[in-house]
Amino acid sequence: MQEARFYQKTNGGAIKCLLCPWLCELNPGQTGVCKVRENISGTLFTHVYNQVAATGIDPIEKKPLYHFFPGKNILSIGEVGCNLHCSFCQNHSISQCSAKQFGGFRKTTPEQLVALALNAKNNVGVAYTYNEPFTFFEFMFDVARQAKSAGLKNVVVSNGYANPEPLKQLLPFIDAFNIDLKAFDTGFYKQQTKGNLASVLESLKTIAKNGNHLEITNLVIPGLNDDETTFEKMVRWISDELGPHVPLHLSRYFPKYKLNLSPTPTEKLEQLFQIANSHLKFVYLGNVNDKQHSSTFCTKCNSLLIERNRYEAKIVQMEFSGTCKICGTPAHIVME
Ligand code: SF4
Repeated sequence: MQEARFYQKTNGGAIKCLLCPWLCELNPGQTGVCKVRENISGTLFTHVYNQVAATGIDPIEKKPLYHFFPGKNILSIGEVGCNLHCSFCQNHSISQCSAKQFGGFRKTTPEQLVALALNAKNNVGVAYTYNEPFTFFEFMFDVARQAKSAGLKNVVVSNGYANPEPLKQLLPFIDAFNIDLKAFDTGFYKQQTKGNLASVLESLKTIAKNGNHLEITNLVIPGLNDDETTFEKMVRWISDELGPHVPLHLSRYFPKYKLNLSPTPTEKLEQLFQIANSHLKFVYLGNVNDKQHSSTFCTKCNSLLIERNRYEAKIVQMEFSGTCKICGTPAHIVME
């Protein structure tokens, strides 16, 4: 256990956690909504420092990041806990579990993880993923700082449900983010995730303004967030506020956790792809076996730059600098 950051003491041993928009007010003995931070005798502790629940060497395409070191691997770590409670959670066995209930932690340290990342083959850095990394902020921060000093890259895969101050303190150490934008609808966020859309949009703007590499994932759920008019508002907002070059991954829904709907029809994904493609330069389909919609093409001459097959990426007509070999147009791809 380690003392948590970002909280203030209030009255009679109570505390207020300032890490995420819930701003949980906790009396001694109480645990926050994320199920990993507890008020113990008037001090806020995190139960997940120096612990991992899941590790793996994943293709970076699996995060998904398509415009950041394509073809490389990344050491990926996750713990337990989440500050959203999505009915359709794809990782609920760890994200919706409390630190006290979970029996599968492995103890580790930032030094050990950095050594593992440095020794792994074709590995570009460390990704904080699988569950919501902001719930293990302190450990993520310490690993990221050491990884950066060792010349590694840091990647955060998050729901974006964080308060501005912790996010700002983390930004200098993070090279790339993939943020879930689950819908462009406050009612959807409230009912299906228990969070609020405005905080996620603020995080996205902060990341884009700071200049960190950013990609966005939108899980398309039939009947819940696939309305074309609302979807078009979302992609317009991404283009206007974050930039038309920000890659958008439209991911196919499959039934998981509490939500048991039919998988997203591929025709619907194709339809939303076309809408997104008229506002954004790089749109991809995920969770489908579709080379055409997961490959990268030059925005000017339409040459095939990167061919993707599931999580494999083959660089075709692209220079190491991330520009098209045929016409020299930048593809907004980070290669070094
Ligand atoms: S990080 Fe956890 S304890 Fe803190 S405000 Fe968010 S949900 Fe509550």
